[in-house]
Amino acid sequence: MNEFNTLIIGGSAAGLSSALILGSALDKPFGIGKKVGIITHQKSAALQNAELNNVLGFKKGTKGEDLLKFGLGQLSENYPEIIQIEKEKVLKIEGAYPNFTVITNKNSYKTKNIVVAVGPSNLFSRTYFITRR
Ligand SMILES: Cc1cc2nc3c(=O)[nH]c(=O)nc-3n(C[C@H](O)[C@H](O)[C@H](O)COP(=O)(O)OP(=O)(O)OC[C@H]3O[C@@H](n4cnc5c(N)ncnc54)[C@H](O)[C@@H]3O)c2cc1C
Repeated sequence: MNEFNTLIIGGSAAGLSSALILGSALDKPFGIGKKVGIITHQKSAALQNAELNNVLGFKKGTKGEDLLKFGLGQLSENYPEIIQIEKEKVLKIEGAYPNFTVITNKNSYKTKNIVVAVGPSNLFSRTYFITRR
């Protein structure tokens, strides 16, 4: 359960977009059997308090908060095989490719690849990012 081929950190625009793209690859020959997860922490997303006005494809006044909720649903509907890990914040990453360990406030996960999609928040930069060869 706690071992991934790719683990995405961050559940906002960048993280959810990465998850949709990776999800679309899981039925391709190179994607078969790969396990992908996303830590869907959204609390500090820059998008959380946004209001979308004059954005192509979005109704004026669309709330960023609603878009984030919609994104989680879109991901689980389109690619239910991607594991969504809720309510966990990454504190630390240890190791190096292909043996990373991602440590959250609740669990730890082994993963070969990491997509860091934590935006401009300083939550992550306050933590330790240790890379050993
Ligand atoms: C005031 C303001 C106005 C903006 N206006 C526009 C605009 O008009 N048009 C436009 O295109 N863009 C605008 N932006 C930029 C837009 O909000 C960002 O480009 C977009 O939200 C970036 O998405 P992201 O996924 O990279 O980062 P974010 O939306 O910031 O998401 C980062 C995610 O990572 C998670 N995260 C952070 N740390 C951790 C951790 N330690 N563990 C787990 N998860 C973590 C957060 O909870 C969050 O879900 C604006 C931004 C701001 C602040």
